[in-house]
Amino acid sequence: MTSPRTVVIAGAGIGGLTAAIALAKRGFPVSVIEQAERLEAIGAGIQLSPNASRVLVALGLEERLTPYVVVPQALNVMNARTGQVLARAALGDAAVRSYGAPYWVIHRGDLHTVLRETIEATPLIALQLGVRAEDFAVHDGAVTVGGRKGGQPIETRGAALIGADGLWSVLRGRLTNPMQPRFARHSAWRALVPAEAVAPALRALTVNLWLGRHAHLVHYPVRGGSLINVVAILRDRWREAGWSAPGDRDEVLARFPAGMWHGAPRDLIAAASGWHKWALYDCRPLKQWGAGPVTLLGDAAHPMLPYLAQGAAMAIEDAAVLAQCMSQASDDLPAALRRYEDKRRKRTTRAQRAARRNGTVYHMGGAEAFLRGLALVAMRGTGLLRPYNWLYHWQPD
Ligand SMILES: Cc1cc2nc3c(=O)[nH]c(=O)nc-3n(C[C@H](O)[C@H](O)[C@H](O)COP(=O)(O)OP(=O)(O)OC[C@H]3O[C@@H](n4cnc5c(N)ncnc54)[C@H](O)[C@@H]3O)c2cc1C
Repeated sequence: MTSPRTVVIAGAGIGGLTAAIALAKRGFPVSVIEQAERLEAIGAGIQLSPNASRVLVALGLEERLTPYVVVPQALNVMNARTGQVLARAALGDAAVRSYGAPYWVIHRGDLHTVLRETIEATPLIALQLGVRAEDFAVHDGAVTVGGRKGGQPIETRGAALIGADGLWSVLRGRLTNPMQPRFARHSAWRALVPAEAVAPALRALTVNLWLGRHAHLVHYPVRGGSLINVVAILRDRWREAGWSAPGDRDEVLARFPAGMWHGAPRDLIAAASGWHKWALYDCRPLKQWGAGPVTLLGDAAHPMLPYLAQGAAMAIEDAAVLAQCMSQASDDLPAALRRYEDKRRKRTTRAQRAARRNGTVYHMGGAEAFLRGLALVAMRGTGLLRPYNWLYHWQPD
């Protein structure tokens, strides 16, 4: 029988799994339903800035994550054409000193695996795979989630429902005015390259950002340094939903032509096979995230473009704040959820907008790009991360 305190979470992505762990730590039984039949290690690199790593450490996950994470020693920003390092900011120990938590990078699949294994070892959490949430009904202070498993209708009951069902959230459409994600006219192409296949400079323990006209490239090591995660972002009309469409190396290489792109990033692109791509979408900030015992979390609540590297981080922050608010007012869960939304809306809106703005700055060309380069050089690295203090210093109350 379902406990009167059971929280149903729809979606076992990074946000849903972190929320399940955070809620179970506060004594809530959790029922997670996930549409995928299997939880596979899909995706590529994800940056866990100190605002997110702080939450994962507080949840007791540091030991399990350590074999997978890479601690980059610096962030380098390069001119795509000349290869000139425009700015360099220290990370590593300097990040821990500045923000009180580490700056990590990790393969999304490794983070997902650690979260899944933690859930499997937590008796308060039940995970049902192959269940797609479609709707919900609120009655007598409880909520019933209607869905499908193998084509058959299935119901899951709880005291509260958290829609952590990602960018294309079905539950968002049931809760608020249906808001379709807007296409950002860019796609992200990702690949993983064995570290030994590239020159030493390309496998250094650094996060590297190459800024070109209408395109940029990010790369950093993952999986303990054995693989290099490469993400190329470019203008595109291709707009299919999904995270893992196959991509063609020659097509991406053609978008980073010699003459406009330095040899090093081109070598990296050429060394990578097995490209996948996804079209970039975000949403305008939502005015309302929830009603009664139902709310949203992560990309379902605030899809954002990847230019601030905060999609996973914001979902992880949400999880911590949600668990905190629910444990503080567990006798009035709707009130707890409204408090959670109030605490999160302003910050996630700011992150969504900052991500959009970064996209414009990253892809400048001509005189604008020249001025951007001068500004970056003038910062000399020390000022590079200062605009992000509001992001990285964050901690739950
Ligand atoms: C397969 C996959 C690969 C990704 N790869 C990358 C990447 O390489 N780089 C990157 O920066 N970001 C990637 N992302 C996005 C990134 O993980 C998220 O932006 C971020 O972590 C926020 O997490 P989230 O939990 O809110 O959403 P997501 O991580 O998108 O998780 C949502 C989960 O909900 C499930 N779901 C959706 N609809 C339903 C439903 N109706 N009922 C039940 N379950 C449902 C999905 O299957 C998914 O598991 C990927 C996401 C996915 C799902």
